[in-house]
Amino acid sequence: MQTANVSPEEIARFERLASRWWDPDGESRPLHDLNPVRADFVAARVALRGARVADVGCGGGLLSEALARAGATVVGIDLGAALIDVARLHLHESGLEVDYRVCGSAELAAAEPEGFDAVCCMELIEHVPDPAALVADLARLLKPGARLFLSTLNRTPASFAAAIVGAEYLLRLLPRGTHHYAQFLRPSELAALLRRAGLELEEVEGLSYNPLTRQARLVENTAVNYLLCARKPA
Ligand code: SAH
Repeated sequence: MQTANVSPEEIARFERLASRWWDPDGESRPLHDLNPVRADFVAARVALRGARVADVGCGGGLLSEALARAGATVVGIDLGAALIDVARLHLHESGLEVDYRVCGSAELAAAEPEGFDAVCCMELIEHVPDPAALVADLARLLKPGARLFLSTLNRTPASFAAAIVGAEYLLRLLPRGTHHYAQFLRPSELAALLRRAGLELEEVEGLSYNPLTRQARLVENTAVNYLLCARKPA
């Protein structure tokens, strides 16, 4: 099992949320609210029916299920065993099929290099010790010509205010300590990592989220959350 690019405290913190992962009013509420927007973003750029898609850092499976519902054959991986248990259990409720594995990105990339028509990695990169190594693994998973979808938090005063002060302290949407400001990545920094991994950045969109109205939508402003699409040259 891959252990290099993982922070065990991070996994433990997410595993504590496992039993409530599918509660739309629990701690994963922001992920529930963002999910349709990001699933639509992927669906608009990949013919999902019949496509083989990897969801890296899938948690309890919110996006994996949305992709499977759209007809994709999904492999969902996470190093939180409790989360993979919850993801598997939820398949009984949804009636969908997803191949969930307790596995790291390096391990999957070694097992199935160039194995996927699309790779998704949402809200994970800000939680790993070595984001460049993660991006290299994600690039390796892609078939030539396939697309990577990645979302994370920008490192700006606005993201500090929204994601840490707002979400963790004022609104108490997320447990304190969920996010570490220094690990947030600016789009330009992420673009450099993608380039170094041989990928071509195609699009960067801001993802605006109002936790009070629970509205999420794509916007131009990337100051807080953003979502990007990159392609492995054919
Ligand atoms: N991608 C999901 C979950 C995001 S939460 C979604 O957006 O709905 C971040 C997830 O990343 C958690 O499930 C956590 O267990 C997982 N994670 C953290 N570090 C990881 C690592 N190094 N490798 C794989 N998964 C990791």
